[in-house]
Amino acid sequence: MTNDIWGQVKSELQGTVGEHNYKNWIAPVDFLTTEDNVAILSVPTTFLGNWVARNYSDRILEGFRARGADVTRVDFRLGADVAPASATELEAPRSRTILSRSELSSYDEADMPGAPLDPRFTFDSFVVGKPNQLAHAAAKRVAEGNSVTFNPLFLYGGVGLGKTHLMHAIAHELQTRRPDLRVVYISAERFMYQFIQALRDKSMMDFKQLFRSVDVLMVDDVQFIAGKDSTQEEFFHTFNTLVDRHKQIIISADRAPGEIKDLEDRIKSRLQCGLVVDLHPTDYELRLGILQQKVDQYRAQYPGLVLQDGVLEFLAHRISTNVRVLEGALMRLFAFASLVGREINLDLTQECLTDILKSSDRKVTVEEIQRKVAEHFNIRLSDLVGPKRVRTIARPRQIAMWLCKRLTSRSLPDIGRRFGNRDHTTVMHGVKKIEELKSIDSQIAEDVELLRRALEA
Ligand code: ADP
Ligand code: MG
Repeated sequence: MTNDIWGQVKSELQGTVGEHNYKNWIAPVDFLTTEDNVAILSVPTTFLGNWVARNYSDRILEGFRARGADVTRVDFRLGADVAPASATELEAPRSRTILSRSELSSYDEADMPGAPLDPRFTFDSFVVGKPNQLAHAAAKRVAEGNSVTFNPLFLYGGVGLGKTHLMHAIAHELQTRRPDLRVVYISAERFMYQFIQALRDKSMMDFKQLFRSVDVLMVDDVQFIAGKDSTQEEFFHTFNTLVDRHKQIIISADRAPGEIKDLEDRIKSRLQCGLVVDLHPTDYELRLGILQQKVDQYRAQYPGLVLQDGVLEFLAHRISTNVRVLEGALMRLFAFASLVGREINLDLTQECLTDILKSSDRKVTVEEIQRKVAEHFNIRLSDLVGPKRVRTIARPRQIAMWLCKRLTSRSLPDIGRRFGNRDHTTVMHGVKKIEELKSIDSQIAEDVELLRRALEA
């Protein structure tokens, strides 16, 4: 058995696996030697070895035998190392669910099964609050890696609410608890990309085999494949195969399955079969909790930095859109404070975060305010904007005006118009009145505060 035979097997593979796969996986493999009917091939990395062993060793063996080589098995060794790669590493590719960034960077990412995980996205770093309690509990359960109780687990919610974080956390946890399982995390976008690549390279068999041989499949942001017909089709079949084999599937999307437009009905109904949980928009307490956790991390990074009371509360109150923005704001604040050597107080915060604070101001509408106020005081909306002057209606009306002035960018005349065509001086008077009453009448202060929070949440 000689190097020549390996050369022939290689060219045969070149014709069958597609140019792309050949270049990435087969070309870097060299023939080393044979030992007791075992052909030993050398590979540049363990990862590549795992991949080739899993996907091509049968064909390689066939190729050798077809050319008369007396081999019964193919083994792989790390090329640079004289010592054989540890048996467990090469024989148990299943345990290597996560691909390190260094491994990834040496190959075209497009061919990777799944994506690398963010080491920061663990259960430990996930702050649990009312809005994400259920999603967290479901993720924890799946991460135990015991029998599959709900399939799929479908997590949905708006941008930056922790869907990806939870999925990575599941993968991390499974890696420790069940290293025997093959866990693949992939974004729907990348799934599509790999699928198209496989079509182009005529390596659909590999693609199908790859995705249908995993134990736990996580597909992130599945709304992405809506409207992409052949990708949907393939996803559907992968999905069904895995469910039939009792393999766990975890899916995320930005909305509930039924609300994803241009997603085939059969896929929608399949996605609804398991457990569907949503991540609600964060509330004030959760945001504060996340900020506090981040601050604990930053303290080590910026020793000696002073953080004044009230800053975190201010941020949690003002930035209510998205946790990613919240984290970004805090990071910027710490970096800025340490650069200019100042303590972090409210002034610095406003100065440093003007743009974020401005853009995350939630747009509350006059109509919303009127509706909430009428509801709160149990009066009719038509009365609120109507002519009646009895105090039980006039006072709520003034509170509504005050809220409009505070929470919207409407001018006084504009607000007046929306309250039954009242004059702007009436609005001004109302706003002033509430401002006064707030400081002397605790009931009014409480009502106003409650309403404001409800409207800003
Ligand atoms: P999504 O995938 O839902 O858009 P991500 O999972 O990417 O959101 O989360 C955005 C950022 O917010 C990440 O840095 C994540 O770590 C952080 N984050 C979101 N929710 C939480 C939470 N409950 N605790 C800690 N960090 C969180
Ligand atoms: Mg995400």
